[in-house]
Amino acid sequence: MAKTTTISGWGLYPIVDASVRRAHYRRDLGADDETSVLPQGSCRSYGDACLHDRVVSTLPLKHLLDFEPKQGLLRAEAGVTIEDLIRFAVPRGFFPPVTPGTKFPTLGGCIAADVHGKNHHADGSIAAFVEELEMVLADGSQVYCSRHLLPDLFWATLGGMGLTGFVYAATLRLKKISSAYIQQRSIKTANFAETCRIFAETQQQYTYSVAWIDSLKKGRQLGRGLILLGEHAPADEITKKELFPLHSDSRLDVPFFFPSFALNTWSMRAFNSLYYHRQWSHSSTATIHYNPYFYPLDMVHRWNRIYGRKGFLQYQVVVPFADGEEIMADVLRRIAHRGIASLLTVLKTLGPANEGLLSFPIAGYTLALDIPLTDDGIVPFLRELNKTIVDAKGRVYLAKDAILEKEDFAAMYPQLEEFKRVKRHYDPEQRFRSRQSDRLGIT
Ligand SMILES: Cc1cc2nc3c(=O)[nH]c(=O)nc-3n(C[C@H](O)[C@H](O)[C@H](O)COP(=O)(O)OP(=O)(O)OC[C@H]3O[C@@H](n4cnc5c(N)ncnc54)[C@H](O)[C@@H]3O)c2cc1C
Repeated sequence: MAKTTTISGWGLYPIVDASVRRAHYRRDLGADDETSVLPQGSCRSYGDACLHDRVVSTLPLKHLLDFEPKQGLLRAEAGVTIEDLIRFAVPRGFFPPVTPGTKFPTLGGCIAADVHGKNHHADGSIAAFVEELEMVLADGSQVYCSRHLLPDLFWATLGGMGLTGFVYAATLRLKKISSAYIQQRSIKTANFAETCRIFAETQQQYTYSVAWIDSLKKGRQLGRGLILLGEHAPADEITKKELFPLHSDSRLDVPFFFPSFALNTWSMRAFNSLYYHRQWSHSSTATIHYNPYFYPLDMVHRWNRIYGRKGFLQYQVVVPFADGEEIMADVLRRIAHRGIASLLTVLKTLGPANEGLLSFPIAGYTLALDIPLTDDGIVPFLRELNKTIVDAKGRVYLAKDAILEKEDFAAMYPQLEEFKRVKRHYDPEQRFRSRQSDRLGIT
């Protein structure tokens, strides 16, 4: 039975009233009298990609269905989270091949966003490890798709933000690891040019890389930060008793919304400065557990409340390497001058695009930052920045978006018409739609 409630993405903006039906079995995904519907996972997308008047939550679909250890092939239902995967895989010497910066999203949500991790430059997005999808389409039919079977449906679904149908289950190739630890090298940079140079110099050597950027710095210190490089640690380098310990649950929580005055430019400046100076040397190395390396934000539950009741936007864009350094520096400069106080600004490099019709990654620099919704000028300011991204042949990540305009979206995603054609074929009556797809003119 459906329940009416208010729902939002992780950015707590927008918030909508919705009827939420929970799917416990594959048959619950079949067509019923709903005129339109949207699959929903853990609502860890930031904006309105997971929002619609009627949603079907896949969270109860939590079964691991099959495991073939020789090739590391795991078949699992869509509501299984990255954390569930880890709890199963790590003790057996495997790890999710691609993981977002939080372990709470579902497999279905990760496939729908074709998520990328800190290893995109080396391994690609999650699509590279998906062998097969089991879907329930708009007419209730159950189909399998893969690179060889209905490839048009496969490549429209990976990155297709839930608009082609329900992913009921997926077969994923896991990554073999020989310990639960990561060898981390951390390099402190003085400015954006150095950050980009070190990225370029280390891409071939490290599977994982990400930079935290002090986004409040201007002038000569613009773009200074800490680059965190990582590699799965080999067993013979681990001195601990256990090779594959799991993480424990965090008990920290943000029990209430912070008042808006708590996070201002001054408090953010102090936080950014403390974080930057936590490392004194230019470079340091350590062997750390996978949890603090991949999921530092998961240490505090409901941390999204620190931005207050008005919520926040996460702005993530990618621009090709060609003029990427200058364009990202320009974006950072404009954000710093606007006085936008972001706790978390992250820069990564992405490798080549795949065949996903609406997949986000293209080769280039990607920058992501939290932007509290402090005043009415924020949205027009970001839409203005989007013009620069369009001119640079870059794009906004749909899994983070709540404000992109239709025309800019069409310019950023050149395969949009092909996506619409495939969607019309499998969903002629537009049964699957979201607040985002309506806003962007996809539906
Ligand atoms: C702290 C944090 C860090 C993050 N880091 C990264 C990162 O490093 N890289 C990255 O790529 N992303 C990142 N993300 C974004 C997140 O991984 C994606 O938004 C992901 O889609 C969330 O999955 P979910 O289960 O929460 O899905 P939801 O947010 O509930 O839904 C997202 C989309 O998936 C669709 N969907 C969900 N389940 C299904 C299904 N069974 N069948 C079909 N469609 C479905 C929905 O319709 C919706 O369009 C991060 C998010 C947070 C909060």
